[in-house]
Amino acid sequence: MQCKARSKRSKKQCLKWAVRGRTTCHMHGGKSKGPKTKEGKMRARQAAYKHGLNTQEALKQHLEIKSLIRQSKNLIQMIEG
Ligand SMILES: [Zn+2]
Repeated sequence: MQCKARSKRSKKQCLKWAVRGRTTCHMHGGKSKGPKTKEGKMRARQAAYKHGLNTQEALKQHLEIKSLIRQSKNLIQMIEG
């Protein structure tokens, strides 16, 4: 399989072969098993965190608000006719 990594500058996909059983070549972290320690995993999570708008908590809140809006729309419709 071809390496799935894409260049930041040229936007082109890496042309190397991926490490067997993985999606990237050895140059793009194909041999890496990811963070092992609790601290390392936490650090990786923090690095991907941007604004908190997509956290599980925020998504749950969005769904609640959505259903509230739907409920009030239904109520208005019932009242109006
Ligand atoms: Zn690669």
